[in-house]
Amino acid sequence: MKIKDVRAFEIDFSKVRSKPKSTVAKKSMYEFLGGKYYVREGRQPAGPMERFPKYRKDRGKAGPKWGPVACVVEAEDGTFGVGTTVFSGPVIPIINEHYRSNLVGEHAMATEKIYDMMMRLSAAYGSQGVTSYAISAVDLALWDLKGKLLGRPVYELLGGPQKDKIFCYATGFDVDWYLELGFRAIKLPMPYGPMDGIEGLRKAEALVAETRERIGDDIELMLDCWMALDVEYTVRLAEVLKPYRLKWIEDYLMPDDMDGFEQVRHRVPSQGLATGEHWYLAQPFSLAAQRRLVDIFQPDPKWVGGVSACVRICHIAEGAGLSVIPHGGMNDPFGQHIVFAMPAATWGERSGGVSPPGVSLTEMVDLPGTAVIEDGYLVPSDAPGFGIDVDRAWLEKTAV
Ligand SMILES: [Mg+2]
Repeated sequence: MKIKDVRAFEIDFSKVRSKPKSTVAKKSMYEFLGGKYYVREGRQPAGPMERFPKYRKDRGKAGPKWGPVACVVEAEDGTFGVGTTVFSGPVIPIINEHYRSNLVGEHAMATEKIYDMMMRLSAAYGSQGVTSYAISAVDLALWDLKGKLLGRPVYELLGGPQKDKIFCYATGFDVDWYLELGFRAIKLPMPYGPMDGIEGLRKAEALVAETRERIGDDIELMLDCWMALDVEYTVRLAEVLKPYRLKWIEDYLMPDDMDGFEQVRHRVPSQGLATGEHWYLAQPFSLAAQRRLVDIFQPDPKWVGGVSACVRICHIAEGAGLSVIPHGGMNDPFGQHIVFAMPAATWGERSGGVSPPGVSLTEMVDLPGTAVIEDGYLVPSDAPGFGIDVDRAWLEKTAV
């Protein structure tokens, strides 16, 4: 079976969603990633632009206005697979103007060959970063297509299921609501950074101490610093927060600062460390595994290079005795199938705001057919492919 067409287009979920208006993500990246839900005492989470005062009040200002993307790969018999990603501006031309002509006519089941082709086709302009978002969308669509052609769920094609159900954690500030939903692990966004100096450290401690007090000792607690810190601030923060037994501190440095990650690893040896949502393709994970830079890898299936990249990263992690908890992995079916199948993948993250208090997780589904977390655990759909239940008319309706 050959590939007949590969096509990417910008989508707007608000056109097809029936969920409450207040929970519908807008087009800005900041809102799409759930940033608008993460506000505490008027402060959004800190980020890499924190040092420039004009961005400190509104982190959304720093993001591009590019929207989400769907990629549809169609086989000769008309069967099609769907993958999604973000950053429509640069991603759509990479797929439609470069990959498409090279991939049409290729074997529809040849995910290994096509992943390798996409890396090599983009070598001259860089296969990591925005290109790996394009690679992800095509790769996810191909895996969905493969599952549909074979009539099996993707987790079976990957050798799973490896677990009965996926233990999930929630990211955000609505701690009481997450507990009510049944989550037993919670991750707080970090609203303070080096620009807040010692006051920021004090406030960070107050936030974590108050949360630990509220959730007790039997709920795991983590902290996500979204590229906002530096080595010195991370070390001081880890020392201040030691009494609160954080399972991990996450994404504390700029993603390319590999020497910085090594410094932190050596200076706070006992603290669990996690990162990887801004690393692309398998190579940075291989280097990080060799140097044992963190304990937990957090590739995003929709950004890192799709299922094909995640499988490589899971194998690298397993060989090095590390674990994988994909970024936002429970938000859509892609990460759900990967975590269900792979032994290195231990937990699932529900982010993007989880759901506002009182709104059920079922109402937050973007892609019809997406399995929903119940009482803190998730079992993916066993329908063919990723189980995404959309037809041509739905896809046309979402197109911008
Ligand atoms: Mg994160």
